[in-house]
Amino acid sequence: MSTTPTAPVIEDWFSHDPEPHLIGTRCKQCATYYFPKQTSFCRNPDCFSSDFDEVPLSRTGKVWSYTKHFYQPPEPFITDGEEFEPYTIVGVELEAEKMMVLGQLAADASFEDLKAGIEMELVIEKLYHRDGTDYMIWKWKPTAS
Ligand SMILES: [Zn+2]
Repeated sequence: MSTTPTAPVIEDWFSHDPEPHLIGTRCKQCATYYFPKQTSFCRNPDCFSSDFDEVPLSRTGKVWSYTKHFYQPPEPFITDGEEFEPYTIVGVELEAEKMMVLGQLAADASFEDLKAGIEMELVIEKLYHRDGTDYMIWKWKPTAS
């Protein structure tokens, strides 16, 4: 049995454990969270810190909004296969950080099942296959109740 090698679409943006999470930063001064990671200066206008901790972000949250995209996304979010297929983007408010993170809807989830406020969890799935490697990205999936 062979397994297809995998690689992240973007390095260091998410973990690869069985319960994956996004990797962000938190300002040491004012505790503001950032994703993608902010490492140069804090964007809080009342804070002048440039010290950050790298932190795992909540892997669950609630649907804030969602939409179906009918146009080809820009790199690195290219789609698999020859034909472009419309895909769903979900904005999820993270459980603890209360920040909104966009991601595609998991492959086995359906647009029709989405509703504002339902619980979602982070999964790592293939975005596209190229040169023998599956390229992985985070996606949002409704939490099994
Ligand atoms: Zn700050």
